[in-house]
Amino acid sequence: MTGDKIIELKGVERHYVQGARKLTILNGVEFSLRRGEMVALVAPSGAGKSTLLHTAGLLERPDAGDVILGGRACGRLSDDERTAIRRNDIGFVYQFHHLLPEFSALENIMMPQLVKGLPPAEASARAAQLLDYMQIGKRGHHRPAELSGGEQQRVAIARAVANAPLVLLADEPTGNLDPVTASYVFDALAALVRQSGLAALIATHNHELAARMDRRVTLSEGKVVPI
Ligand code: ADP
Repeated sequence: MTGDKIIELKGVERHYVQGARKLTILNGVEFSLRRGEMVALVAPSGAGKSTLLHTAGLLERPDAGDVILGGRACGRLSDDERTAIRRNDIGFVYQFHHLLPEFSALENIMMPQLVKGLPPAEASARAAQLLDYMQIGKRGHHRPAELSGGEQQRVAIARAVANAPLVLLADEPTGNLDPVTASYVFDALAALVRQSGLAALIATHNHELAARMDRRVTLSEGKVVPI
């Protein structure tokens, strides 16, 4: 992989206090992603994958260390600044699609763009383009309930990248799908990452998919280490 670091976690620590106990989940994480790179995060339940993704995605603040996104230190920014950065530069995909049920696939993908202030015609054109790219162009006018699980996840991925983020963070994006559908959804996601040059960190329990990414990392004693 060539190119600069798009996101960098430096000495990131994250602790939770449970009663009288202090749980250390991230303990000096050093980790970065480069443009066009897909990295698999493979670790057992409870290891801290969601904590890592949420901290990298500026949903949680590091207790120590910093998250550098596109060269900008983000750990100490205000909530409003972090929200703005999340809206523009970070895409999230979860195991369950969390699409808005009363809106069509196309409208779901338009939504983050409208929130950002894009004119509806522009947002609609980009949404249609992303649906085509995810090979579900004909399904744009259907509501989520009328789509298959694989189609729903493709819409969720398209929505996550609608504002052309720098980084895509995914928490078990194919965990809810059968293996064949998971493989198709992964192919579409991989093509999107390569084509757009964003960087992706993808938590997965699927070793076959992990093997198809550029690198694999795990969490060990609160640190990100290569597998
Ligand atoms: P994973 O995604 O790998 O399953 P998580 O990041 O969700 O792991 O959780 C890591 C550990 O941190 C778990 O032991 C979990 O119980 C604990 N944890 C996560 N969030 C909180 C919280 N808000 N308060 C207290 N403990 C938490």
